[in-house]
Amino acid sequence: QAKAAGRNTTRFFDPAMQAAAATYSELEKDLRNGLANQEFVLHYQVQVKVDNNKLHEPTITGVEALVRWNSGSRGMVPPAQFIQLAEETGMILPLGQWVLETACAQLVEWAKSPRTANWTMAVNVSASQFAKADFVTNVYSALEKTGARPELLKLELTESMLVVDIEEIILKMNAIRARGVSFSLDDFGTGYSSLSYLKRLPLTQLKIDRSFVRDVLTDPSDAVIARTIVALGHSLGLKVIAEGVETEGQRDFLTGIGVDAHQGYLFGKPVGVDALHTL
Ligand code: C2E
Ligand code: MG
Ligand code: MG
Ligand code: MG
Repeated sequence: QAKAAGRNTTRFFDPAMQAAAATYSELEKDLRNGLANQEFVLHYQVQVKVDNNKLHEPTITGVEALVRWNSGSRGMVPPAQFIQLAEETGMILPLGQWVLETACAQLVEWAKSPRTANWTMAVNVSASQFAKADFVTNVYSALEKTGARPELLKLELTESMLVVDIEEIILKMNAIRARGVSFSLDDFGTGYSSLSYLKRLPLTQLKIDRSFVRDVLTDPSDAVIARTIVALGHSLGLKVIAEGVETEGQRDFLTGIGVDAHQGYLFGKPVGVDALHTL
């Protein structure tokens, strides 16, 4: 960008940009310290199954782990404010591994109680994390270190990370699938996904993006998209989960079109593990 602006102008003379850059590197420094000081925590949001005849009695089938940064100076920071920076600085690698191991350790904790023993754990994986040559061994290592049941671990990938080298991606996914871990395609419908790729990837679940769920009752095209994703997923032998379900109307509609599971504020916001147990 600086180059495009011409030789005689350099963006570092722009005080606003200089300030932004300073704030950014400060954030980076804080993030590094935060990782060293164990300031990251996982919150968990329930995923439920809803029976058409018992709409008001959802069954919890598992959770999604969502990372938060409990920064001394910044308070509880949501991922939107640090995941991108963590990706750019490579810090997503130790952070992502911490998330994976902490989530697996939680599964082992839940295995002790019959009520939670079969809960699945969905973990978000970032593009650069997945792209690393040692990603497969990192997943194995998190499982071995904690003793978590691989069948309960579900890795959430996004479409954007599945377009680079499809053969390589399939090999990696298959190696992880061989241990029993499954894969869900997050934010489905928002990215660039070719149907021929979708057919070949060893996925087990599609996750309908929140942007289609939001207006599913009022926007006929969103309703069509939701129906189409369910039909597509099912015809490929995949389960379909809806994210961002906030109202009973959305729940009922989505249950009616055959969605297999739901996630959203209607059933529970992401919360710390103690709050989850009182839920
Ligand atoms: P995501 O994986 O699509 O996660 C769903 C996001 O939607 C979460 O935001 C969740 O709090 C929010 N959400 C859930 N239900 C509702 C609802 O009913 N209404 C609304 N308005 N929002 C809802 P969160 O926790 O802020 O996470 C944002 C994104 O950050 C995640 O999107 C994911 O892409 C990323 N992320 C979170 N944790 C991790 C992580 O451990 N590793 C990586 N690489 N990315 C993560
Ligand atoms: Mg997710
Ligand atoms: Mg999502
Ligand atoms: Mg989303």
